Amino acid sequence: MICKKCGALGTITLRKKDIYCDVCFSINIVHKFRGCIGKNKILSKDENVLICLSGGKGSTVLLDLIHNGIVLDNHKKLRIRPLFLHISNGDVDRINNIIKQCKLYSFDVYIANIADYFEPNLKILNTNSLPIVNAEHNEKINNMFKDIPLSVYNDMMLKIKRSLFIKYAKLLDCELIFTAETTTSLAINLLSNISIGRGSQIENDIGFMDNRNEKIKIIRPMKDISQEELDNYMRIKQLTCINFDHHQENSIQSVISNFVGDLQENFPATVSTVCKTADKIGLHNDNKIKKDMKCIICESNLNRKNLKLSALEATEFSRLVSLLKPQPTPINSNDGLHTEDWAVVNSMHKSMFPFIHKTLCFSCSRNYAQMSQSQLTQTIQELILT
Ligand SMILES: [Zn+2]
Ligand SMILES: [Zn+2]
Repeated sequence: MICKKCGALGTITLRKKDIYCDVCFSINIVHKFRGCIGKNKILSKDENVLICLSGGKGSTVLLDLIHNGIVLDNHKKLRIRPLFLHISNGDVDRINNIIKQCKLYSFDVYIANIADYFEPNLKILNTNSLPIVNAEHNEKINNMFKDIPLSVYNDMMLKIKRSLFIKYAKLLDCELIFTAETTTSLAINLLSNISIGRGSQIENDIGFMDNRNEKIKIIRPMKDISQEELDNYMRIKQLTCINFDHHQENSIQSVISNFVGDLQENFPATVSTVCKTADKIGLHNDNKIKKDMKCIICESNLNRKNLKLSALEATEFSRLVSLLKPQPTPINSNDGLHTEDWAVVNSMHKSMFPFIHKTLCFSCSRNYAQMSQSQLTQTIQELILT
């Protein structure tokens, strides 16, 4: 067991073949983190950056890497002004632990609540204190998630958090947001995205940068670090995480997570192969698309231009046409369906995929259809107006 970098006694074996000592391994992790930011040249000097913390492993390591970077006193110093945010689901123990975790580094942290999604006028929070939760908003969020499929819950939770990150970043005067997804979690998100119909959104959901919002960019500086590397880094630095970011069991996301995990055990190149593929299939969308051409929940391009080419369109068409009453085909006419038929088609179209391609993308529309209707109709209307 010899370290492949310095020849000292190796302590860590990565991907079943690469041997490192603790020192070289840690240097390599810092290098990956800094390289990811540097390579993409997105930081200007002393910029405010909102760092989003869940308390999970990725978040715990991100916090440590940020601290190590900004306390340096040489040319390698990380020149950012970090502000920290945790979005809580109401778990008071977790909030207290996050505050404690940040205090270890003398950082203050803003604690928001997931129910803030329904608050039209967010205000700057006090740091290091429990959030005041609006009872009405809390009821709305609980109703929204009542009796919905777990896969929809997982997906919506990601979209709601993303939306809150952006709103708080605006409020706190940050144009950049850092989140802590690792190579492993991104590989899982990629396959989940494809399976729930978000294939066209991969570039923004899985890539280094989500630039769907005009002003605020979400950056994933940990995207080249794997779960295995996180575990080793935490052991060397003696870090403990607060929670384990699990998807709801028995959902598409949890099944994919187990699948990727099992495969990675025997085929250590699984995760990196999946992520490299993602880089190749990213669509190069024009991000300067007008606001009204974006989904109001996830801000993805509604992609109306390519609508006629989509499989969705074909599926809908054949399904809807098969529901119509049979009519004699007009001789010498190639106009197919009559106007009144199209009215029927349109009304069914709306009920199967509400607001699709008007204000919602395919997946958000499908999520919407599976949520508690009365509550959400009002919410979506409110969102359309804001
Ligand atoms: Zn070494
Ligand atoms: Zn959407």
